[in-house]
Amino acid sequence: MNHTVPQIAASRLPELLRAMPKAELHMHIEGSLEPELIFALAQRNQVELPYDSVEALRAAYAFTDLQSFLDIYYAGASVLLYEQDFYDMARAYLNRAAADNVVHTEIFFDPQTHTARGVGMETVINGLYRACRDAQISQGISATLILSFLRHLSEEDALATLEEALPLRDRFIGVGLDSSEVGNPPEKFARVFARCKELGLHLVAHAGEEGPPAYIWGALDTLKVARIDHGVQSEKDELLMQRLVREQVPLTVCPLSNLKLCVVDDLADHNLPRLLEAGLKVMINSDDPAYFGGYVNENYTQLFAATGMGADQAYQLARNSLEASFASDAQKADWIAQLDAVFAKFGAAA
Ligand SMILES: [Zn+2]
Repeated sequence: MNHTVPQIAASRLPELLRAMPKAELHMHIEGSLEPELIFALAQRNQVELPYDSVEALRAAYAFTDLQSFLDIYYAGASVLLYEQDFYDMARAYLNRAAADNVVHTEIFFDPQTHTARGVGMETVINGLYRACRDAQISQGISATLILSFLRHLSEEDALATLEEALPLRDRFIGVGLDSSEVGNPPEKFARVFARCKELGLHLVAHAGEEGPPAYIWGALDTLKVARIDHGVQSEKDELLMQRLVREQVPLTVCPLSNLKLCVVDDLADHNLPRLLEAGLKVMINSDDPAYFGGYVNENYTQLFAATGMGADQAYQLARNSLEASFASDAQKADWIAQLDAVFAKFGAAA
């Protein structure tokens, strides 16, 4: 670390974690749908839900693995029909993010979840884009969109989705790959990612959440991604670890998601502190905050409480999140200066 972090009392750590400016680079907007909003939209759009109440829906959020979550996640998304629904969902998330001192967010959205139900591509993208623009104006939060392909569907479906979205190319900055990982290796999407690279889109992919380290190699070498989403399985492969350190490939880790989907049994055993110590460019994100028990600050505070990490690690994680974003270098330097100012203020008060 080339920055000296001031001494800050451990008792002030939760306050520091909340106050520090940070970026969120791994959050699925459909995963920010709170049960209350699902019910409100179901009523507004007259969609029948398989749950009687907000409480019954929330009680169903007891997952055993990734697939058990995805089944409920897709059911929740069924209430989204009109542009205003996508707008309302994104504004609700951006309000929470701004309250967590997120200065920049790169939001995943899954168009295939909606177009397969007959919702138009422009309905999805325009609603989300308008919410990002309005939040920038009213709250000063920088927000961009990353179109994610569903990997349990075919590459042909992904290619068709890309073509459908291209008329709105100026409204999203990149593409990602999400949904059921095991059995759907990155190589399945080689052609569509090559096409996106030609188009100058930023490339990211989920890899090594439940899937093996081989999927991380594949995402880097075949898909040519700039960031790995999750990547917590990289620890099983020493050569891969060395490469991730050498190339400083960002890993967008999601602690509460890993806990809720049983990737780890206990937050105290989460490997993020070890990955950070080994020199990997890791950071903390919320993944699907409405389903996994917390937005980004909750992920920071719970993981720090469970693992005993301190101010040095807090600084590095926040800085990694800002540096790993697709924002301009000038913008990143500005946010890092804000981060340094917050740490200096907490240090001076110690
Ligand atoms: Zn994810």
